[in-house]
Amino acid sequence: MTATPRTALTVAGSDSGGGAGIQADLRTFFACGVHGMTALTAVTVQNSVGVHGFTEIPPDVVAAQIEAVAGDMGVNAAKTGMLATAEIISTVSSTMDKVGIGRGQSVPLVVDPVAASMHGDPLLRDEALEAIRTELFPRATLVTPNLDEVRLLTGIDVTDAASARRAAEALLAFGPQWVLVKGGHLSDSPRCVDLLSDGTHVVEFEGPRYDTPHTHGGGDTLASAITAHLAKGLGVLDAVAAGKKFIERCVFESYPLGAGVGPVSPFW
Ligand code: PLP
Repeated sequence: MTATPRTALTVAGSDSGGGAGIQADLRTFFACGVHGMTALTAVTVQNSVGVHGFTEIPPDVVAAQIEAVAGDMGVNAAKTGMLATAEIISTVSSTMDKVGIGRGQSVPLVVDPVAASMHGDPLLRDEALEAIRTELFPRATLVTPNLDEVRLLTGIDVTDAASARRAAEALLAFGPQWVLVKGGHLSDSPRCVDLLSDGTHVVEFEGPRYDTPHTHGGGDTLASAITAHLAKGLGVLDAVAAGKKFIERCVFESYPLGAGVGPVSPFW
């Protein structure tokens, strides 16, 4: 018998292709040395070509999964990914309060505001965006939008460092403690620059841009690597730095799979 590892919970959707969603989260938790637990929110039908559809899990079943693991096994950090509907977002928000997860509570919460796949397939019903802004963001220790999600949530088109700072301020106004504006999708930039801010500290994380089309699951993998490091007791700045290192290597090692976009890789 060995010592119990730290634990991390993902509240997210399933990707039948195994590249994103809870599948990416669980393997990232494993690779980062924490015990992963899941509250499934939706089942997507997808492969490397795209998301062909999804079915959501009833909100009371999502809540029951969170309560079951939090009450028995304990959660050291949690993240949300695909939440699909406003009803699931409301239920997850109130359940997080109930079990002591989120901003102002003892357990950190990373909110990855997943709205669509990289192919543009919707993963969130249209009316649910407002629930992300008003119900989930105020409970988040850290939110991790990509540039498409920043545009949807704030209306700001990030094109450079100044607009990234404006976007971070607009996102902080919704109430999260920290925001990470992920610049990885600025395809004309030779480097990936992500901006982390809590309104007082503003830190730019710069890394290489690898020339690969196979980046499926990259956002999920970064958010879950940060969550794993928070679960191990790191502060937000150090957890984001560690998560960035992890995702850079996963993108470097990404592989082709199927006819479309292959996943970032945990094999290294
Ligand atoms: N499927 C699920 C269940 C997801 O959670 C996500 C992203 O969070 C995706 C698909 C899309 O991933 P990507 O945009 O990396 O293709």
